[in-house]
Amino acid sequence: MKPSLNSLSLTRKLLAFDTVNPPGQERACAQFLGKILEDGGFETNFFEFGDGRTNLVARITGVGDTPPICFTGHIDTIPLGAIPWTKDPLKGEIEGNRIYGRGASDMKGGVAAMVIAGLRIAELSKSRASMTLVITAGEETGCEGAYFLAAHESALGKAGAIVVGEPTSNFPVVGHKGALWIEARATGVAAHGSMPEKGENAIYKAADAVKKLQDFDFEAIPHPLLGSPTLNIGTITGGININSVPDQALIGIDIRTIPGQNNKEVYEKLTSYLGQELEFNRLIDVEGIATDPQDEWVQEVFDVMEPFIEERPAARGVTYFTDVSVLTPAFGNPPTIILGPGEPVMAHKTDEFCYISKIEEASAAYLEIARKWCGL
Ligand SMILES: [Zn+2]
Repeated sequence: MKPSLNSLSLTRKLLAFDTVNPPGQERACAQFLGKILEDGGFETNFFEFGDGRTNLVARITGVGDTPPICFTGHIDTIPLGAIPWTKDPLKGEIEGNRIYGRGASDMKGGVAAMVIAGLRIAELSKSRASMTLVITAGEETGCEGAYFLAAHESALGKAGAIVVGEPTSNFPVVGHKGALWIEARATGVAAHGSMPEKGENAIYKAADAVKKLQDFDFEAIPHPLLGSPTLNIGTITGGININSVPDQALIGIDIRTIPGQNNKEVYEKLTSYLGQELEFNRLIDVEGIATDPQDEWVQEVFDVMEPFIEERPAARGVTYFTDVSVLTPAFGNPPTIILGPGEPVMAHKTDEFCYISKIEEASAAYLEIARKWCGL
């Protein structure tokens, strides 16, 4: 490994790639990481699901039967937002213990930390290290890259445990909710606004659905860590001008499911509840995920993290979804931890930053977790 390369310098380099999604354009960033990992002894494969939409899978396979430990993270970021930044979102400006940039917390800091840990593991012993790095594109718009990898036979191979480096302030988290985003479309018949009796008002139909959804009951038993599923109507649009009867209205429904709930069943229940007057379109559909906190490897991760966070980790879940909704089932449901240096509250914010010390600690923790896994 080049002596100048560490988790901070690599984070800065990753921030300089504009991977705002949409449109994504992760190829240059994925190739950059691929080159570094190849130089460090990893075998790399690239998987593109669109022009410039590049996933990277890098692995070292030691001798022996231990399945690899998988570290995963995404390199796309969300857009900058309407409010102007006071920092350059691509420069990785450093101020005290903070590094600023779009994706600093979510999650280029985490990706840099795991790549550096991977390179160190390869340096320790290529023959005993067994590790897979899955660097995805298109996570922010619904795990597109992860779905592509899961559908691509032999892209992922095996994994015995998974760490996803999404922002948790380095707290090891054992589960997260799923998401089911549905667009419901009401259609009507257009007419002049002065003669509404000649038309059929799509907004009235959408309004009925909105009202009805407030009483929707999931009938789900709350999850011990993640509580109950939720439903929020985030958007409503309809009509083109004030003096017409609208012939179309759309509502955007954001459902967060819990582990154990089946998204398909929730979708069927909700669409039949709203009835045939509406058409439905699933925008995002990812399941919740949870690992038993008593799992032996989870406890080992808790042991590793205890000195870093200065307390014994308790079993905890988060509400946001990640690529492991897709990757964990694709790997055959090995135990999975969400653990990354980013600040959860910083994700998607103007002037996003990550604490430099957390990135360095995450890299050290990933190395320790991987060393224990590989018996190094
Ligand atoms: Zn993320």
